[in-house]
Amino acid sequence: MSLLEIDNVTLRFGGVVAVNQVSFSVEEGEVFALVGPNGAGKSTIFNLISRFYDPAEGDIRFEGKSILSRQSHEIAGLGIARTFQNIELFEHATVLQNLLVGRHRHRQGNFMTELLFTPFVRGEERRHRSAVEHVIEFLDLQPYREKMIAGLPYGVRKVVEMGRALAIEPKLLLLDEPASGLSVEETQDVAFWIEDIKKQMGITVLMVEHDMHLVSSVSDRVLALADGKTLALGTPQEVQNDPKVIEAYIGT
Ligand code: ADP
Ligand code: MG
Repeated sequence: MSLLEIDNVTLRFGGVVAVNQVSFSVEEGEVFALVGPNGAGKSTIFNLISRFYDPAEGDIRFEGKSILSRQSHEIAGLGIARTFQNIELFEHATVLQNLLVGRHRHRQGNFMTELLFTPFVRGEERRHRSAVEHVIEFLDLQPYREKMIAGLPYGVRKVVEMGRALAIEPKLLLLDEPASGLSVEETQDVAFWIEDIKKQMGITVLMVEHDMHLVSSVSDRVLALADGKTLALGTPQEVQNDPKVIEAYIGT
């Protein structure tokens, strides 16, 4: 069974077919990349998996079960975390607070037990802290731990955005353009982290990325899209050499 199955999914925005009968599966333990020119439908696929939109046709399954009956706030609880192409953090909170809030929003348990602050909740709190501290260490964010997001350089905010998703301890991590706007050195760090997220943490990664060097260096498989449609699926090498993919890039 695949971890994630996108099964013949279509989504239209008015007259635009943003995603047009797209099918692909992401296997547990792999890094899978979506590539394609702007407007290809890549972020829309993330938004469909996040349940921000209902597909007009098709099904999306996670661990073999359709997630179409789920609401977006339930998705993280299933084990799917994401980053946003435009970083979405609390600007006037610290790095630590952002990572903790990321977890708290998705935690089990209810408001009353939190108010009563039972031993169970205290145990949970410790678990949240240790998961977040682990992420801070993993992403080398110690120097920024208590710093406000608003004052941080773009490259660091980008890393915090990834940390916010990792802190949820997902089975599947969706990264929307993790290297966009980053320097060559920062992109290299992202490549190392993605490798470790896969190998050390055992998290499956689905990413959207324009930097083909990064895509080739970390991805097991790549799906190329253009105008909402599948162009090619295969290894990074196969996809980069596909005539339809080359044409789509030249055409833009
Ligand atoms: P990509 O991430 O591959 O650059 P998107 O998934 O953002 O592309 O967009 C795919 C197509 O859907 C584009 O034509 C875009 O203009 C359109 N689109 C995306 N989101 C919306 C929306 N919320 N409303 C209307 N059109 C949208
Ligand atoms: Mg996009």
